[in-house]
Formats: sequence, C-alpha cells, structure tokens
Amino acid sequence: MTQTVKQKRLVVLGGGESGVGAAILAKVKGMDVFLSDMGKIAPRYADMLREHDIPFEQGTHTPQLILNADEVVKSPGIPPTAPMVQALAERNIPIISEIEFAGRYTDAKMVCITGSNGKTTTTLLTYHILKKAGINVGLAGNVGRSLALQVAFERHDVYVIELSSFQLENMYEFKANIAVLMNITPDHLDRYEYKMQNYVRAKFRIINNLTAQDAIIYWQDDPVITSQLRAISTEARLFPFSEHSEGDNTAAYVDDEGEIVFNTPVESLNMPRADLALNGLHNLFNSMAAGLSACLLDIKKEDIRNALSDFEGVEHRLEPAGTIDGVRWINDSKATNVNSCWYALESMPKAKTTVLILGGKDKGNDYTEIEHLVDEKVKAIVAMGLHNEKIIEFFGDKVKVVDTHSLDEAVAACYSLASEGDTVLLSPCCASFDLFKSYEDRGRQFKDAVKKLMK
Ligand code: ADP
Repeated sequence: MTQTVKQKRLVVLGGGESGVGAAILAKVKGMDVFLSDMGKIAPRYADMLREHDIPFEQGTHTPQLILNADEVVKSPGIPPTAPMVQALAERNIPIISEIEFAGRYTDAKMVCITGSNGKTTTTLLTYHILKKAGINVGLAGNVGRSLALQVAFERHDVYVIELSSFQLENMYEFKANIAVLMNITPDHLDRYEYKMQNYVRAKFRIINNLTAQDAIIYWQDDPVITSQLRAISTEARLFPFSEHSEGDNTAAYVDDEGEIVFNTPVESLNMPRADLALNGLHNLFNSMAAGLSACLLDIKKEDIRNALSDFEGVEHRLEPAGTIDGVRWINDSKATNVNSCWYALESMPKAKTTVLILGGKDKGNDYTEIEHLVDEKVKAIVAMGLHNEKIIEFFGDKVKVVDTHSLDEAVAACYSLASEGDTVLLSPCCASFDLFKSYEDRGRQFKDAVKKLMK
C-alpha cells in the first residue's frame, strides 16, 4: 500500500517583496501555498503570484484559509499585535520570517547587517566590495530583492542581507556567518511597548546560533551594544571597530597618521581615511564595518581599498542635490530619526553655515541629542510639516526657526536664508508620512525643487 505524504501548507501573510518571494520559494519546494494580504497587493506582485499559480486574497484575511496552515511566513510590516497573528499564536502555529524560511534552502555564507542607522549604506557598500572582487554575491533583506526569490532561482556563494528589527523578530534557527551590529539607538519604540530593552533584544537576534567559526562586527563605542554583549554569552569571534584604537582588540580604527587599520586573522590592511568615498564620521563606521566583513571573507587588500574609494553613495543619504550660487543643497531624507540627523550635522562645516530642514511625522523625538550641534553649526531651521509646534518650541529661542507647511514653501525659505558658502541640509529627524508618500518621495521632490531653482 502506498502511503501519501501530506503536503505541507504554508500560508504567507503580506504580499510585498518578501511575502511574494517566500510564496514562490514554497511553491518551487512543492508546498501547498496560500498568500493573504489585508491591504492591496501591487499589480507587479499579483502578476508574479498568478504566473506561479499561487492562490491569494487581498483586502481581507479569511480565517479558514489561514488557520489551517502548518507554518506561516509573516511580512515584517505586520505587527505581532495584529488579530490574525494573535489567532495563529493562540493555536501554536509557527510564525517565521521570510529570511528564516529562505535560509533553510541555501548554504551560502551570510553577512547580515543590522543597527538603528547605517544598515542600507553598509549593506550596499559590503555588496559593492564583494561584487567588485568577483564574488558571486546576492543582495537581500530590506534592500534589493527578497532572499527567498533568489534562493528559489539563483545560486550565490554569499548573501549580504540588511535586517531590520522587524525582520529579526521571527528568526529562530537562521544563522549568520558574519553578523554586523552598527549601533543601537531608540527607534520604532512604538512597536516595542516603548521598552528599549525589547528593541535591543530584537536586534540581538542577529547573533543567535553563531558558532566559534562565526564573527560579530560591532561599534565598540556603542554603550547599548557593549553592555548587551557583556550580559550574554556567545562563542563567536568579536571584531569591534572604533574611531580610535581602544586596546589590542579593536579590529578597525584610524591611527595617528590618519590611516584606517583593518586587522583580522584572515586579511589585514591599511588605507588613508582621506581615500574613503563616503564622508562623515558615520560613514567611517559604515566603511569600517564593510571593510572588516570583506577582510573576513578573504577579499584581496587592493580590491577592498579600491571599492571603499569608488563607492558612489546611496540615494537620500547625504546625497548632493546640487549647488546654486555657491550654496550646497544636500538630500538626507532618509534621516528619519534624531540620531541619523546628528551624524549628518556632525559632517557639516563648523561655523553656522547650515540651513537645516526638520520636520514630518514625529516618532516621539527628543531633540536634546542634536541641540549642541545645532547651536554650533546651524544658521536657521526651516520646519516643514503639518505640525511644527514641537520643533518651534524646542529650538525657537535658540536659533531662527521658519514655519512652513509644504516642500515648496520650505525650499523657498531656504533659498532666501542661505548665502554663498552655506549648505541647505534636508535631514528631517522624522518620518515623511504627513506630507509625502515615503522618504524616497520626500527626497525626490526635494531634488526636483533644487533642479528647478538651478534653471
Ligand atoms: P538605515 O538603513 O539603517 O536606515 P541608512 O544607511 O539608510 O541606514 O542611513 C540612514 C540615515 O542615517 C542617513 O541619512 C545617514 O545620515 C544616517 N547614518 C548612516 N550611517 C550611520 C551610522 N553608522 N550611524 C548613524 N547614522 C548613520
């Protein structure tokens, strides 16, 4: 008598890049797949599902089609408090992330990057070094295509993966080979019951399952990371980076001659800090993290140096938008929290020559962190948002603040405030959803407005 093996039923919640990738990989692996999205699925993704014969629904979650799952892949955007997620948890149906799922079907080396700020830049920079060195490398996670889709149809030897805390929440067995922790400062606390430790714990899932062969690269001066590392135990090798060497164990630092030293048992090298393509202290850290990962993957010195010096930067991250009448305009729309704006200001010239555009949807911002830099470097603040009261109240008696409620108004205000030698910096500290669709939309509209001024 032949026994039929029951096909595994995998339900995917969320029809975006990661969900659709997971559904397709499940289909390729012969599972009974269903995808459900409470919202609208973008036509491109709906077409991909149809192309692979994957049944799906949108605008609703039908319990009978979901609660019969053996396992569920949940999009990182769906919070654990969503009713359907709770219903699944009550029934003890395992809920995993797309990265956890895809990780089961590849034995490629994984370089995983997380942090509150600098993830995308470090991920793209690492990918750039490896790609340029001729490695068969894939780019996945928050940037690039879903890991699952690549695992379904391609073969890469290494993946560089950007992981947000939301993605890390549902990862259990997944193992990185190199885990990079850039920094941990308050962000998304609304998702973590306003408890910083919950957010820290989610970030630290990146080092789960690491063995003595694996590595953790981290910023040595981050108090949150270092105290958490002291509190837990890990077999992994530690490679901290810092602006200055702090004892023998600092794996990357700038020496007294201004040379960046990268020091690992696999590869070591020096290069002048001045040769880095990306400017600013934060980008020194991003370059160090990417360079250390490359050293540990045994990339040749010359390839690392060349790639760190010819990287073209990432859109909306301290991106030059143009120079008009001697005024530099910079698009840092991706600075959606106070800490990222701190680093943007840190890289500005000392004198009071920066006109700073702040504002948008406030995530519980505490502006004290940038108060000192604003005092030192900022000539005027242009508040741009639906509700500017908090900015006006905090900075109003310290520096000139102009109240504007649209991008055009803000750009016009900056144009009249800035004079030759000044910089206009859009680094808003806030999410963009009050006036714009996304931070990309905000950045592009800003760049378009600057282009118009140039005509
Ligand atoms: P993420 O992907 O973590 O949001 P990005 O690389 O997109 O990080 O950078 C987001 C913003 O954070 C940028 O606008 C930049 O000004 C700032 N930033 C970049 N790298 C760092 C870093 N290492 N530390 C602090 N801020 C950073």
